Amino acid sequence: MSDMQNDLRELYQEVIFDHNRRPRNFQPMETPTHSAEGFNPLCGDHFIVYLRVDEDKVVEASFTGQGCAISTASASLMTEAVKGKGLDEVEALFRDIHAMLTDAHPEHRDFGKLEVLSGVREFPARVKCATLAWHTLHNALEQSGEVAKTE
Ligand code: ZN
Repeated sequence: MSDMQNDLRELYQEVIFDHNRRPRNFQPMETPTHSAEGFNPLCGDHFIVYLRVDEDKVVEASFTGQGCAISTASASLMTEAVKGKGLDEVEALFRDIHAMLTDAHPEHRDFGKLEVLSGVREFPARVKCATLAWHTLHNALEQSGEVAKTE
């Protein structure tokens, strides 16, 4: 592995540790317009995602629950990423993140801070941890009322 890859990996880990230690938007929402529950039985990650949508825009996003470092950091990064975005953008981001995490050769796109999640591609068992919050977000917006499961 090159030094640059090593540096990148360290940076990614740092961001994930930071978001796991101090998750952003980690609180229940009193009056969400959308919410959904997500569960990853392989790891035990279990979250509820809350959204407030106004005029086709996510104006607030938060989550509660418990999970491993990857799932918690992913949920934290997700709530930051979707806040202020239009529903179309959020749906596109869900699809792109899912592709980034699950495709062997994803199309290149600049994911900004969310790029840190790409490190889990090397660990197939952890991919479900990283995608859980995103599946839950997707279900919340679809209002399916189903518990999002990663399988
Ligand atoms: Zn996990």
